[in-house]
Amino acid sequence: MEIFSGKGVCGGIASGSLKIIGNNEIQVRKIHSNDTESEIKRFEDARKKALSELKTLCGKNYGSTEEAIFEIHCMMIDDSDYIESVENIIRTQSANAEYAVFLTGQRFSDIFAEMDDDYMKARSADVKDISERLIRILTGKNNDKNFLTDKCIILAEDLVPSQTIQLDKEKVLAFVTVHGSANSHTAILARAMNIPSIVGCKINTDSSLDGKTAVVDGYTGKLYIEPDEKTLSELLERQRQDGEKQKLLFDLKGKDSVTIDGKKIKLYANIGSLSDLESVFINDAGGIGLFRSEFIYLERDNFPDEEEQFRIYKKVAEAMAGKKVIIRTLDIGADKQADYFNLEKEENPAMGFRAVRICLSQPDIFRTQLRAILRAGVFGNVSIMYPMITSLWEIKRIKEIVNDVKRELSDEKKAFADIEQGIMIETPAAVMISDMLAEEADFFSIGTNDLTQYTLAVDRQNEKTDDFYDPHHPAIIRMIQQVIDNAHSAGIWAGICGELGADTSLTETLLKMGIDELSVSPSEILKVRKCIRETNLSIKKKERY
Ligand code: PEP
Ligand code: MG
Repeated sequence: MEIFSGKGVCGGIASGSLKIIGNNEIQVRKIHSNDTESEIKRFEDARKKALSELKTLCGKNYGSTEEAIFEIHCMMIDDSDYIESVENIIRTQSANAEYAVFLTGQRFSDIFAEMDDDYMKARSADVKDISERLIRILTGKNNDKNFLTDKCIILAEDLVPSQTIQLDKEKVLAFVTVHGSANSHTAILARAMNIPSIVGCKINTDSSLDGKTAVVDGYTGKLYIEPDEKTLSELLERQRQDGEKQKLLFDLKGKDSVTIDGKKIKLYANIGSLSDLESVFINDAGGIGLFRSEFIYLERDNFPDEEEQFRIYKKVAEAMAGKKVIIRTLDIGADKQADYFNLEKEENPAMGFRAVRICLSQPDIFRTQLRAILRAGVFGNVSIMYPMITSLWEIKRIKEIVNDVKRELSDEKKAFADIEQGIMIETPAAVMISDMLAEEADFFSIGTNDLTQYTLAVDRQNEKTDDFYDPHHPAIIRMIQQVIDNAHSAGIWAGICGELGADTSLTETLLKMGIDELSVSPSEILKVRKCIRETNLSIKKKERY
């Protein structure tokens, strides 16, 4: 037995076999080959295999947007210019097939990216995607999102959010990464999926570990490889007790999230995709307090159009049957990158071109999303929420755009709802002007993940600074109080949708500070409900921060 330690970011115990996965980028080296004909044959065989994979994917996704994308990929992989370019590079440079595909992919994708037509521009990501598929086949490194055949424990150097969101949840027993911080979106996604997870696990991810039996203890952050019988039975006993505790929490389903003295708290769930809805119902959330809509974009190779977004938002609104659904507009950028946005690499991405900054600079992308949300509002109790606000002009400008989009929808005789618009308070600037922002917003939702990062000057992505990332810091608690007070003075509600909302060591304090809403990962709903129901606001607990 070998034991490796890291930081547990989602509790729970899982046992199964290890599956090592690489990162999205495959390193391609140019290797001189005199046997050009056999390289061309390798390319031809890889093309046939890729085509057959794509046809299977078309079949599995029949009638969906994905099917249309895979069909485009089939056409591209059969394109005579593409094939000719690869064969030319193999012949003229005596290069290996992988390198020829890589170079062709890069050249074609650059050509597409520079085209004026938006549709053609968007093909840039497709050509990259088919080239990656071919390279994976040629190198035998299959890290395709559909590659998980059996249930397994994922072991990786690191996982980016777009990789994590594309994994088949049904097959993932646990995540273990060598790098990664406790506050990254990948960790948040793992919590949303309620999958035991460890980051910063100091282990060498060599292929000999593939398939070995392991147990992940997400509570202690320990990974046991080939555990001995005694350890295994202790861990399985812990897993059993865990299940018992969870069963007790299920008694709280259907009960109100209300304090002993009768204050009702909005206890909502954070979701990132339609597939999270099941967990929302299992855990009896009172609504959705944060729908991270950018994950819709991360799951794709191209911009989701208005109809596709509309269908998703409508489904959520209808499924929640009158309960609140707060859709946060696109918060792409920083660690959440989608290739097809063609965002330039930045020195300081967390402080860079992200969220509403992109939406205000590229209003077409924003307007498409706004149209979809406003239209979906007809089918339920939908609100909209804007991330990364720092200035009053931003919300004023956003509201102008929203009014313009509404006028456009009216002219087109398309039904839409006049929905509430709230903002996230996740920058110190927004806290300091929250009195002014409260005049423009219908509600506040405090994003403590980013607020902690920006207030304490601690990069939430940097594992080296994890120990300095302290959402309990008095500066954060004082800021939360200031935001609540300013919201209440303006007659609007204030909630928390950052990870601190699920920190039950602080629930009583937050409730006594006057918080109105807590939005947490679905699996944490009942734990927080228990705490709310045990709190008596009439018993004053005066703490100074
Ligand atoms: C936050 O910053 O607290 C938040 C909820 O948004 P995200 O974690 O998606 O940045
Ligand atoms: Mg945030």
